[in-house]
Amino acid sequence: MNYKPGRVFLSVPHMGGHEKNYVQKALEDNWVSTAGPNLAGFEHDICQHTNARFAVALNTGTAALHLALRVLGVGPGDEVLCSTFTFVATANPILYVGATPVFVESEPETWNMCPDTLSKAIAARIEAGKKPACILVVHLYGMPAKMKEILAVAEMYGIPVLEDAAEALGSRYSGHQVGTLGTIGIFSFNGNKIITTSGGGALITANEQLAAQAHFLATQAKEPAPFYQHAQMGYNYRLSNISAGIGRGQIEVLEKRVKQRREVYAYYRERLKTLEELVFLPEPKTCFSNRWLTTVLLPENHTPESIRQALEAENIETRPLWKPLHLQPLFKDAPYYGDGLSEWLFSRGLCLPSSSSLTEEELDKVIKHLQRLLEVV
Ligand SMILES: *Cc1c(COP(=O)(O)O)cnc(C)c1O
Repeated sequence: MNYKPGRVFLSVPHMGGHEKNYVQKALEDNWVSTAGPNLAGFEHDICQHTNARFAVALNTGTAALHLALRVLGVGPGDEVLCSTFTFVATANPILYVGATPVFVESEPETWNMCPDTLSKAIAARIEAGKKPACILVVHLYGMPAKMKEILAVAEMYGIPVLEDAAEALGSRYSGHQVGTLGTIGIFSFNGNKIITTSGGGALITANEQLAAQAHFLATQAKEPAPFYQHAQMGYNYRLSNISAGIGRGQIEVLEKRVKQRREVYAYYRERLKTLEELVFLPEPKTCFSNRWLTTVLLPENHTPESIRQALEAENIETRPLWKPLHLQPLFKDAPYYGDGLSEWLFSRGLCLPSSSSLTEEELDKVIKHLQRLLEVV
């Protein structure tokens, strides 16, 4: 695409500087492959930064979700309780394994899965004759979901929890890194996320067997034999050693990127506080958000689309909030439990430019135009 110069983007990659050293070493040593020292190094780094016991580096976050469902034994005919307020990549893997998503509404404090609605949904599914196989909870825009309550419900019914932390690397809940609270967690290193490998993902878990099984399925499920022996259906989901090199450089600056994204949020919030009807999502006491994207709810007399277009005319990129999955034509037949909160959020919300590399000048430009567009005249 051709962009006018000076465009303020929503979320762009931000290199730390050492990425090229790791990539260059891989090229020099001819580890231009889906095997090599950067992979083990990157997995080690992920464990170091998140306190995870095991990490498997993969070629997308979507692949990580797919493998997580596979190793949790979710298959045809199963039901998966899934946050409705999220990107479609969360739920597509449920379809890959032949299972059905059962969508669960958000609660207003974190915009993530409501523990009460979750509990009601499980009771209703069991009443209807089937116990759900998994709870897939998303930490949207970097904000941790109410994990204590969700884990309590999960434990009561004995259902494993899979955390989609694709947007939330570096976020914490009660001091724990998100992704480490459930049975399995996943991250994405897509180009627009807080750190990137250009494209990539990872699965983390404290369970050695699940990690080994994920690694096995990610490499075509090749059995330990001197010839090519296969007893299970596998995938080609491993991250490349080149991409892992970018990841190693990126993870060195992860904490800095979290700090910078949080500063972007704080800057908007402080400068726009006079617009009283503009609502920011505050951080509940137990939560530390990486503030991947700063989101706002607009005053009632404006639509997100009108503001988006007006900012677009100023060469500023914004984005509507995720359209809830239970409203997507793809999932029109899937069960849904809730009170419509995410539909309301979708009708009012906008994601603001949130890159860690934003300059004060760029932020001031966005703020100036938001003030102009939203000020009561
Ligand atoms: C980005 C994202 C994914 C998928 O990650 P990819 O690496 O792009 O496949 C999954 N879930 C959520 C919530 C995401 O934002």
